[in-house]
Amino acid sequence: MTVREALKWGEKELGEIPEPRLDAEYLLAAVLGVSRLPMLLDKGRELTDGQRAAYAGLTARRKEREPLQYILGEQSFMGFSFRCDPRALIPRQDTEAVCGEALCYLRPGMRALDLCTGTGALAVSLKKLCPGAELTASDVSGDALSLARENAERLGAVVRFLQGDLFAPVSGERFDLIVSNPPYIPDGLRGKLQSEVEKEPALALFAGADGLDFYRRIAREAPEHLTDGGRLILETGDGESRAVEKLLADAFDNITVFSDLSGLPRGVSAVKKEGGAP
Ligand code: GLN
Repeated sequence: MTVREALKWGEKELGEIPEPRLDAEYLLAAVLGVSRLPMLLDKGRELTDGQRAAYAGLTARRKEREPLQYILGEQSFMGFSFRCDPRALIPRQDTEAVCGEALCYLRPGMRALDLCTGTGALAVSLKKLCPGAELTASDVSGDALSLARENAERLGAVVRFLQGDLFAPVSGERFDLIVSNPPYIPDGLRGKLQSEVEKEPALALFAGADGLDFYRRIAREAPEHLTDGGRLILETGDGESRAVEKLLADAFDNITVFSDLSGLPRGVSAVKKEGGAP
């Protein structure tokens, strides 16, 4: 079987998923240990029996709607390759907008906190892109933290990782910048999401009846963990940014909504009100 034939077969096998051809290409390239484009320039290449079997195995997993990134074991975020597996949510391109917003304010010497770090995508990228800043990242999930630690090590980023519920592990500490992509999907959508998303940890996704539970807690607790003039940057889910703006109105000023690459509102950025909080 040649690369050309294998891709044709894979595309047909994966006919039910959104982009069968592209996924077949990624899976085959992973099996061959090459990048997609060089593979496509050599479509006459013959697969060995072992490669055929491995490709069939990965294709069967994808057919069961296991996320491509879990099968490949990595996802690019801000140009860095993050290891991915079911221990944490897969980093999304949307979240790069949060990273970009944070980079507008993060400076060497600042202390920054990433709440609900998951794979560590935000904390590790911020440290890589602003090495002079001091990064702390927390997550309630020990599994997620073990993956985040692996990512930091593999990418050579020094980040302090702490386990605990939201601000619990940083009690008494203050930061110049707090970023978070917390869970934000309403509980009612459980079982109704894309099959791939349902294979990601529920702990990283669901956030109460209206999806705003974590924003309520963060709005209440963040001020006592921000320095004067400190900034909070939150990713928000579809249609949630206005509600989050309102939740922040009491204790924050300069509240702005920023968009992702599709031009859709993706997050809220705000500065702690002077004298308005402890
Ligand atoms: N952006 C993710 C999704 O839509 C959800 C991430 C989250 O809840 N923070 O699947």
